Amino acid sequence: MLGEVTEVNEDGHVQVRGILTMTETNRFYRAESVLFKLDRMGQRFHSLEEMQDYVDQTLERWYRETKVWRQVKVTLNRRAKRVALARLRDFTIIIPARRDTRFHYFWTEYLLLHELAHLLGNTVSHQLHYRETLCRLLDLAGLSSEKQILMDSVMQHGMQMPWSKSND
Ligand SMILES: [Zn+2]
Repeated sequence: MLGEVTEVNEDGHVQVRGILTMTETNRFYRAESVLFKLDRMGQRFHSLEEMQDYVDQTLERWYRETKVWRQVKVTLNRRAKRVALARLRDFTIIIPARRDTRFHYFWTEYLLLHELAHLLGNTVSHQLHYRETLCRLLDLAGLSSEKQILMDSVMQHGMQMPWSKSND
């Protein structure tokens, strides 16, 4: 995710932004940080229940669209304040429990969609297939203008997007 965030991959490999050189993941974090800077993170949530409801509703829409049915559990990480991750092994999204004001973007719609895209795309990477899944989710959520901002930023950071600017 964004900012000083660590992500733990399925195999337990830890990636910390800013330490690695510009891998695709790091470039993607940098590209998506525009949404945080512009405060275009979608809805903000105030409880775990709200986040779980949102994920359930999104997965229902995903099912209607794709006929792929998934259930995803959202849990809180009470230890690490800066870690959000998607665990492919048991389809769980783990969100920091405490809403530190510096990291308030954790309890937002965009963050949940970012992590859901890992689970629905079945990938720990942020490569093209991942970005395509994320874009579909943003459209499904009605965040198409946020999607456009993200796509523009991703392309400015030298990465490909699945569709051209005029999306039709
Ligand atoms: Zn990610």
